[in-house]
Amino acid sequence: MRVAFLGLGIMGRSMAANLVKAGHEVAAWNRSPGKDVEGARMAASPADAASGAEVVWMCVSDTKAVEQVLFGPQGVEESLSEGMVVVDSSTISPSATRKFAERVKARGAQYVDAPVTGSKSGAENGTLIFIAGGDEAVIERIQPLFQSMGKQVFRMGETSKGHAAKLVMNLQIALIYEGFAEALTLATKLGVTAETLLPLIQVSMVRSGVVDYKAPFVLKRDFSPNFPLRLMLKDIRLALEAAKEVRVKLPGLETVEEIYDLATEEGQQELDYAATLTLLEKLAGVEVKGASAS
Ligand code: NAP
Repeated sequence: MRVAFLGLGIMGRSMAANLVKAGHEVAAWNRSPGKDVEGARMAASPADAASGAEVVWMCVSDTKAVEQVLFGPQGVEESLSEGMVVVDSSTISPSATRKFAERVKARGAQYVDAPVTGSKSGAENGTLIFIAGGDEAVIERIQPLFQSMGKQVFRMGETSKGHAAKLVMNLQIALIYEGFAEALTLATKLGVTAETLLPLIQVSMVRSGVVDYKAPFVLKRDFSPNFPLRLMLKDIRLALEAAKEVRVKLPGLETVEEIYDLATEEGQQELDYAATLTLLEKLAGVEVKGASAS
């Protein structure tokens, strides 16, 4: 298929590369110059990339970025045509998505929100899980593209329901990781090492995918960004905003937001969100150690 891929960040660049590998004709664009994708045509603007494309796929930071890419100067809107499908794999606001979709659909194009889970490694290996919202037939039509970048697609309902589901997934990841980080901090303070505690966690009902994925990084004290703290904070705020719109109170997530705010004040926004552990350590006056930590 002819695909425009917009946004070549940690996730987007690998996703676009996997589309090329699968034989699709890709025109790629990134806001800042200097990022490219082997085998793709580098476009001068979103409108340029989208011109003549069957599908326009976005993976940019936040709601404002999606709005700019779609409707800003030389945005996708200038090249929209009847039957084109616009897909958004960024994690953004569900209510803003409904407005964006309406404007795109008014031009005869289709809109699918398809945020992802699977992190940097999932994007690299083509094993992402897509959490989609939109017309069933349209999602079916773009299956070959989903298959080139991921292993599964879950349809959550109409447009915006993908983003809604993604936000509640990240709500859980943020809370589960914070539970793990608090447990490691208290255990260390009480004299139980992380390496003693982990095998117990792994055979008990406490075990989780979040712990499976994050524990090796924590033990190595590798806080380089797989999912940057600033993006998890964005998602926490998106979930709190969405909750406010429907009058739902989320006290646990509000507390976690405060931890992320403090971590941001400490300059950790570009580190992985796992670095929130170091803030808890600082407050407790301990450091969680693994065998391979220096
Ligand atoms: P990233 O590495 O920070 O990349 C962000 C991309 O958005 C860059 O290409 C950036 O362009 C572009 N961008 C930012 N503001 C823009 C604007 N105003 N106009 C146009 N482009 C703009 O982020 P990422 O990790 O790839 O994440 C992308 C999206 O996927 C986010 O919504 C994130 O929440 C979601 N996500 C990420 C992960 C993960 O593990 N990383 C997992 C699941 C979902 P520049 O190069 O010019 O800055």
